[in-house]
Amino acid sequence: MRWCLYVDMDAFYVSCELRDRGDLRGLPVVVGPDPRQGHVRGVVLSASYEARRFGLRSAMPVSRAHALCPAAVWIPADFPKYERAAREVRAVLFRFSPDVLPFSIDEAAVWVDLPSAIEARDLGDRIQATLHSELQLPASIGISPYRTVAKIATDTAKPAGIRVVPPNETADFLAPLPVRSIPGVGPKTEAVLQGLGIETIGQLRTGNSTSQLRRLGTFGEELRALASGSPHESTELDVGPPKSRSSDRTLPEDTRDEATLADAVRDLAREAAVGVQSEGFRYENLTVRIRWEDFQQVQRGRSLGAAREGTEPSVAEAARLLHELLQEERTGRNRRVRLLSVRLGGLSPRVGTQRRLDRYLRAGRRGRAPLDGAPDEPGASPKR
Ligand SMILES: [Mg+2]
Repeated sequence: MRWCLYVDMDAFYVSCELRDRGDLRGLPVVVGPDPRQGHVRGVVLSASYEARRFGLRSAMPVSRAHALCPAAVWIPADFPKYERAAREVRAVLFRFSPDVLPFSIDEAAVWVDLPSAIEARDLGDRIQATLHSELQLPASIGISPYRTVAKIATDTAKPAGIRVVPPNETADFLAPLPVRSIPGVGPKTEAVLQGLGIETIGQLRTGNSTSQLRRLGTFGEELRALASGSPHESTELDVGPPKSRSSDRTLPEDTRDEATLADAVRDLAREAAVGVQSEGFRYENLTVRIRWEDFQQVQRGRSLGAAREGTEPSVAEAARLLHELLQEERTGRNRRVRLLSVRLGGLSPRVGTQRRLDRYLRAGRRGRAPLDGAPDEPGASPKR
């Protein structure tokens, strides 16, 4: 039987920092721009579980985080460090299976053939213990034959937990969870579902929700299939390398302040580049998309002339494109920005990563939109 062990590192950036700063263990620690040094506009990138007890969350504006937990220790982000740690994590995972599919810098699906849930659980224990003893990095692991379910199980296991969901327990496991636990269900989809009286995953398959879910198109069908315990996950070879990767962010408040927007777009460009690199790809073009306060959107893209890697080309070009888009808007309506997105496209394998690409093909699992991504509205689907 084929199992997916979905490994998600706990508070990854913070955990990487704590390896070098053992003295900070047990304290509320935040990775992000320190608000006490005048960085009032940035957001929390990662918060230790001690900090989360004060209500801190990633993507929270640093000013709010500071108000909630004035005693927090702030550490500026060091992306090259996190990228190195991500490679160490992946090296460990590859020792347990040749089929490791990274989904972001700190998440990966490990596919294995094992006879039962008990063996799958044992393997999860070993992976978790190895990451902890060799790398001093805590991880949570969700286990299911379905990747989507494994991912949801991981979230319920955090921090430092393991959650196994055997196939015949899938529907029961999912039923009480809020619909928001489903990857791809953001605040907008959640609001639509709540409007239909649907709060939990279990309610997706009861009552007369079938016809109502049609409002969500094929995504509605996928939600129902998931809720009934057999998600639409293709195991066929419908795959190739992903075509693009994007990072987006809904701003804490709609704004037209260019400095705020430039900070945000640089963060997104950095995040997208680190993600692409951690999956073993280079990128050749970049697109910045803006959604305005009235929900209309505009985008501008540019070729970088050649395959590039690292964060510098991405950050520089994203800042330029943003500036151009804002210049153009100023001559017209000058609306405030609601959401920013940076997409890196034209992906190609980095030298020496062809084997990983082969794994994409062999494992036969590219993410299925939209359950894979996190579109913030129904109908939006991540480009893969
Ligand atoms: Mg994580």
